[in-house]
Amino acid sequence: MQYKKNLGQHFLKDQNIVDKLVRHINPSKDDEVVEIGPGNGVMTKSIINRVKKMILIEKDCDLIDDLKRQFHEYENSSILNIDVLNYNLNSLSHSVRVIGNLPYNISTEIIFKMCNCNKIIDMHFMLQKEVVDRIIAKSNSKIYGRLSIMAQAYFNVKKMFDISENVFTPKPKVKSSFVRLSAKKYPFHNKNHENIFYVIVKSAFEGRRKMIKTSLKSYLNASDFNNINLKPDLRAENLTVNDYILISDYVQKI
Ligand code: SAH
Repeated sequence: MQYKKNLGQHFLKDQNIVDKLVRHINPSKDDEVVEIGPGNGVMTKSIINRVKKMILIEKDCDLIDDLKRQFHEYENSSILNIDVLNYNLNSLSHSVRVIGNLPYNISTEIIFKMCNCNKIIDMHFMLQKEVVDRIIAKSNSKIYGRLSIMAQAYFNVKKMFDISENVFTPKPKVKSSFVRLSAKKYPFHNKNHENIFYVIVKSAFEGRRKMIKTSLKSYLNASDFNNINLKPDLRAENLTVNDYILISDYVQKI
């Protein structure tokens, strides 16, 4: 088989690791599961018997016939030959659980996209270890950034374990980890608050080395910083996720 590098194809070849991942996902008969990049269906076939429904989203048209051959008898389930970045989970009628051994070249884009989907119960992903480290990073660390804040605003994040590169074909050049993101209660008052949060976090980290009195000057002046009791000479990485939520709440009110 020809593996497509541009589609981040690294297929799991070790059934023991598949079993371990499925154990941690812990599928149950009422679950509706969206799988991103099912590939040759190695994870799918260990899960599809145990859940109510699966939606498989695979971009590579060369893999679709084989997925259809393997899973056509599951009438509840569907196999979509589309790019996950064009898929709107909010259009689903039910809440879903999302899983995937993600294509690493677009893994952060996928996570950003999933952040404001209100139909997600939880997500279990295999990712580059370095991306998982960024997802779970806390404030005041070098790797803490937009990805950490967006993921942690919407989800409780937990790194489960690292995964050896030997369980994939072809072997990836980077280390991998398995991560769980479980949806939190919606942290914003309304959509406006959420949109402002998005813009504030983006502005703060575009000027990562700047003090927030500079990077956020379009939103907050000296007395605003005083009102919210935040030191204006802090930098983006010094603020917690909650600080960003509070700032955006304040900004939407002024
Ligand atoms: N889940 C399989 C394969 C993982 S490799 C396994 O564990 O063995 C990543 C998979 O994502 C590949 O099947 C690749 O074709 C698919 N993929 C890559 N880009 C995608 C995109 N934008 N949308 C949906 N699937 C994509």
